[in-house]
Amino acid sequence: MVSDILRTSSNLALFESTQEPHQKPVAVKGAGFLSRGSFFHPAHHPATTHPLAPKINLERVLSELKTLATHSDLTPPAVQRVVYTSSDLSARTYLQRIISEANLAIHEDVVGNLFAVWRGSSSSQSRAVATGSHIDAIPHSGMYDGVLGVLGGLEAIRSLKEAGFTPSRDVHLIMFTSEEPTRFGIGCLGSRVLSAELPHEYMYKLVDSNGTTLDEARKAAGFTKELSEAILPDDTYSAFVELHIEQADSLERSSTHIGAVTSIAAPAQAAVRFSGSGGHAGALPMAERHDPGLAGAELALEVEKAALDGQSNYSVATTGRFEVFPGAVNSVPRTATLELDVRNVELEERNEMLTRIRDSATKIAERRGVRLEFNVTNADAPADCNKHIVEMVAQAAQESGLSYSRLVSRAYHDSLFMARKFPTGMIFVPCRGGVSHRPDDLERIVIRITFIRSLANFRLPFCHILIKASTHVDARGDRLLKL
Ligand SMILES: [Zn+2]
Repeated sequence: MVSDILRTSSNLALFESTQEPHQKPVAVKGAGFLSRGSFFHPAHHPATTHPLAPKINLERVLSELKTLATHSDLTPPAVQRVVYTSSDLSARTYLQRIISEANLAIHEDVVGNLFAVWRGSSSSQSRAVATGSHIDAIPHSGMYDGVLGVLGGLEAIRSLKEAGFTPSRDVHLIMFTSEEPTRFGIGCLGSRVLSAELPHEYMYKLVDSNGTTLDEARKAAGFTKELSEAILPDDTYSAFVELHIEQADSLERSSTHIGAVTSIAAPAQAAVRFSGSGGHAGALPMAERHDPGLAGAELALEVEKAALDGQSNYSVATTGRFEVFPGAVNSVPRTATLELDVRNVELEERNEMLTRIRDSATKIAERRGVRLEFNVTNADAPADCNKHIVEMVAQAAQESGLSYSRLVSRAYHDSLFMARKFPTGMIFVPCRGGVSHRPDDLERIVIRITFIRSLANFRLPFCHILIKASTHVDARGDRLLKL
């Protein structure tokens, strides 16, 4: 039965009521949030009953978050779950179990990206919408990074199912493989693979610190098809939305419930090596030295300066690794090895910083008489979120009585790569103290106060966004899809 109240202005039936006869319609006070949307007809809406009243089972989500945290190489609250290790595989098994219990179809691709599919009533005619994130965790991290987006997405789908609805188009929940670079040195492995952002020849070269190749590791974990089979066709999704903790403190500081992410910064990374002849710390006169360690020290300061002199507040630059060899107290270094990370939401500004740093390295090497190797090891382009999805997130927050702000994601996520192919957005929830990637996030991330409140409040916007994504795309058709 197709309910009249769930028809759009273009008369497209977006959701079919699959309400069971024994289920009573859920009362909604006044006009429900959906009735205010431009795609629904309030006039046809019986004000006292509304079948679309999904309810998040908060205890269930929190219990699953805690259970997933026990699939770890470390004792809770510290979490470590590295791709294809036993803890990662057991976490996947647990996730598959709870997804199956929600009666969603599951399939996995060649690197273990997992897709849970909620079939729509007219899925053959429309592109799916998707949500999701990752469950791998760097050493000594906490239990929310990524996992919230997977279990939150599952809960949103379950709550809609339990409210008795079937979407017109398929809704997918995606768990991306290895968002963290811990094992193979490259972040967002799964989303890069499925968005064709990782050339096959490069994929086959990826090796972990034990010499195990990505290809060997994925096959040992049971993912044996050809790597080329993982790429998703361009028309797979009409919208993708990722829910994630902010991993910064701007929402918390401003007491804002929801962040509508407008763009995602991306890093360029470089490996730098200065080489000199070294010598004895006592015997080699100062005037005769060509010290690569001091060249490295000068460059580290130039890296900082490049970001401080940047035109926007989003410029950041970091010397995350700096080692001298042989590293003896009585030895002038023979080499200095640095690894740099430079980020901005604007590609041009990010690249300008990198060029400036490279020019500085060249001048420093010339002045100090040392050799320079400067290799850019990674240079992903930043991504803009789809402006309609940003608006939907903002509108959903507004209609649900939540405060929101538009902000950029300074960290990068699987959404960066999904945005290459599909209209993409991100929803941030506050993260207490901006802390993540730490075991004490159990205490410090919003679990005590803000998180619970956000998640409880968040049930409407998150469900709303899944609904609105379907709605919006259905109503606008190809106009949105071409953006
Ligand atoms: Zn994450």
